[in-house]
Amino acid sequence: MTSPGADRQGMADARLGLLRSAPPLAPAGAFDQIADASRQLTAISDLTNVVVWELIAPDAGIIWHAPFERLLAGQDPHGTYLVPPGVDGKPLYATELGEAVLAPLVQTVRAGVTWENYELVQEFQSPDGEVHKMLVRAVAVPDSVPARFLGIVADVSDPGEVPWITADVGERLTLLVEHSPDAIIVHQDGLVVYTNPAGLRMGAVKSLEAAIGRPITSFISPDDLTSTIARLAQLKDPGDVVKGFEAMMVRDDGSELPVEVASARTSWGGKPAFQVILRDVSERKLAEEAAAARAAIERRYAAAVAALEEGVVVIDREGAVAATNDSATRILGTRLHVGHGDEIFTGGRRAVREDGSPFPIDALPLSVALSRREATTNVVVGVRDEHGKDQWLSVSSRPLGDSEGADNATVVCSVSDITDRKQLLDRLAWEARNDPLTGLANRSGFLTAVQSAIETSDEETLQSLVMFFFDLDRFKLVNDSLGHAVGDEVLLAVAERLRATMPDVISLSRLHGDEFAALEPNVTDTDAALQRAEELRTILSRPVQLSTGRMLSVTPSIGLVRLADVGREASDVLQDADMAMLQAKTRGRGRVAIFDAGLREEVGNRLELEHDLRTAVENGELRLEYQPLASLANGRVLGLEALVRWEHPRRGLLLPARFVGLAEESELIVALGGWVLEAGCAQMARWRAMYPEATDSFLAVNVSPRQLDGQQLMPALRSALEKSGLPAGALMLEITESGLVSDDGHLNGMLEELREFGVRLAIDDFGTGYSSLSHLKRLPVSYIKVDRSFVSGLGTDAEDERIVAAITELGHGLGLRVIAEGVENRQQRHVARELGCDLYQGYLLAEPRRPRDIPAFWRPRPSAARAAS
Ligand code: C2E
Ligand code: CA
Ligand code: CA
Repeated sequence: MTSPGADRQGMADARLGLLRSAPPLAPAGAFDQIADASRQLTAISDLTNVVVWELIAPDAGIIWHAPFERLLAGQDPHGTYLVPPGVDGKPLYATELGEAVLAPLVQTVRAGVTWENYELVQEFQSPDGEVHKMLVRAVAVPDSVPARFLGIVADVSDPGEVPWITADVGERLTLLVEHSPDAIIVHQDGLVVYTNPAGLRMGAVKSLEAAIGRPITSFISPDDLTSTIARLAQLKDPGDVVKGFEAMMVRDDGSELPVEVASARTSWGGKPAFQVILRDVSERKLAEEAAAARAAIERRYAAAVAALEEGVVVIDREGAVAATNDSATRILGTRLHVGHGDEIFTGGRRAVREDGSPFPIDALPLSVALSRREATTNVVVGVRDEHGKDQWLSVSSRPLGDSEGADNATVVCSVSDITDRKQLLDRLAWEARNDPLTGLANRSGFLTAVQSAIETSDEETLQSLVMFFFDLDRFKLVNDSLGHAVGDEVLLAVAERLRATMPDVISLSRLHGDEFAALEPNVTDTDAALQRAEELRTILSRPVQLSTGRMLSVTPSIGLVRLADVGREASDVLQDADMAMLQAKTRGRGRVAIFDAGLREEVGNRLELEHDLRTAVENGELRLEYQPLASLANGRVLGLEALVRWEHPRRGLLLPARFVGLAEESELIVALGGWVLEAGCAQMARWRAMYPEATDSFLAVNVSPRQLDGQQLMPALRSALEKSGLPAGALMLEITESGLVSDDGHLNGMLEELREFGVRLAIDDFGTGYSSLSHLKRLPVSYIKVDRSFVSGLGTDAEDERIVAAITELGHGLGLRVIAEGVENRQQRHVARELGCDLYQGYLLAEPRRPRDIPAFWRPRPSAARAAS
């Protein structure tokens, strides 16, 4: 076989060989072993009165194995033929006749109709006027590509002369027809004359008898009848073919079957007939419908994916991006184009988990999907987008198995940008645990942190944990008098200091208002804890520079508790620390107290005391002692300071340190202060009336800063003076330096009003409150009392002396009189006098005394006179 032509010829020969000698349906391979069949075929044609031909689809080229003209023996070689007789027959020459006889067949093949067998009796009129019947039979060569058909033409005008080979081929064609899966029905004048078994099966017709003779139209659905008839009407000439068209076949059981119909003009029993081939296309139809439905779903799916808020990215086996939707582009931007695998999210930069910890590369969603073939759902990944902005993504990914039609696209992932949501959640979570002002933990955040520290620490670590509870003294005053903005500044400064001073702190919190707490590790024992608390107290007590430039100091009261000493429940520990803080407060401001088992009792006592204090005034349990103030120049007693005492029915004598703080915490201070003013003024008025020397003595009364806040001080003052008849000028109000923290209008106005009213004003405990010196200038005061802590160092401590000297100089510069408090010995008095102080007060002169012991001061006594000299 050297050329395609030779090949084709060889194959054709082989096929015929099969037809002749091999059993039907022999394997295709067997054909190829037989050579020279073409010559044999030609020989057969020569020996018999049939002509063998071969036809090859799709061109339907005909190979004649013997000339067709051989069948025309005895005719005028130059005469013309008419096919079919009488019908628009254009005369043909003998050489054209073979083609004309095979024309119907050729047309069906060209029209794409495939069949397995074919039979046609074609008539023509020879030049001598005789009508000849030519039998054309053909059979499809099984499994041939392109399709091949093998056939014969024989003259059957004389029925007695049907050649043997025709019978043989016909038998085979019949066999093929009988076994065809397509229904092959022949009808004549509209009535069925033949159907193959497939026709009966497809039409659900019970028997051949039931089929024969019925109208062919009974097989076609009424809906399709008109169009079917129209198409069939095109079949005018023998060999005309109607290409496959679709129609519904009506079955005898009432059901319908979609079929493809092809029809050709043929003959039956020598008379014109129509052969109809019906092919069951229900499966193809179903497949087409399924495909169409699938395509529609896919289209809808694609549209839905495109419209998704979520980004969808399909990643191939190598991690490259295979497909994306618009949202993916919106969310991931250029990372999609340059990235590979998880880089489409991270851009190759660091990624973090929700808690901020680094995200291991092999735990990122695509990595997991690509390498481990595992799905992940809503994995939150924190990344930097290409503009450097933090972005939070929620990624779900799923590797697709090959069975899911995922040939190259092996991972589908969806990604949402949850930055806004995450930030909001983070903020809400943060706000739930933190104080927005200082950024420190709030109470609940602190308790959570403490509880987890308790639970995760080993025994040794636990022993070294200490909790501090800070409460700023008189913070309410700062807030009320200087305004909340200043209050906030102070709180921020405190927070900042705590942060700076406690680098190892486990949790730092602003619990509420002016209350702070901290849990610090590595505090080995009680001494260390107390020392640490002292340290913190000192640091927090340093004056704060306000944005206005002013300095302001707030002292903390600090309670502390070692976790070694208490329970293991964070809230209980905090409560103990709180208790210790209250204890510190009770001892006086700016103190430190450590929790111990007895403290709960003390706190209980404190509550009881506060309760008792409410009725102390009415029950007459309060009384006053008086301590004289004398001139340093001549020793003369110039005034008396009233100091309150509480004769507690069960506890005995209580000093102010035990209860004034308590009173200040509540509104009780107003009643207490009012009572002191009234009782003091009344006493002083009596003394003035009784002792001429007392006439120009003043009465000093301590006024709590809380009394200055409210509106009650002036009325109380007026009433006390009115009732006693004491002139305003006989009264000195002592206000502690820390009570004068403000520049605010209310306090200044108040002080101004008091001065105009005629009372003297003194700053008590001067030097402890860090009030700015320039501020002092603006206060309408006329005395400063230098705090006992400085006076005690006079004669022994050069530093204290320098401070007292400076205060004195400053005071004098402002036209104020300077009083040295707490003078306990002569040396102190001597130095105070040397440094220029004007008055003094202290145990050296006299301890606070009961009223009955006071008049002695106005009767000159030799001893007193000597002491003053
Ligand atoms: P303060 O105004 O500084 O009063 C002086 C305190 O020092 C008095 O204590 C007094 O007994 C004590 N003292 C006087 N001389 C000496 C001395 O030479 N050495 C020592 N070590 N101490 C001396 P007291 O009576 O216990 O009062 C304590 C504080 O209670 C007072 O300090 C004052 O701030 C407050 N206080 C007393 N009475 C009242 C009152 O009626 N109203 C208000 N708001 N506070 C009062
Ligand atoms: Ca005082
Ligand atoms: Ca004082």
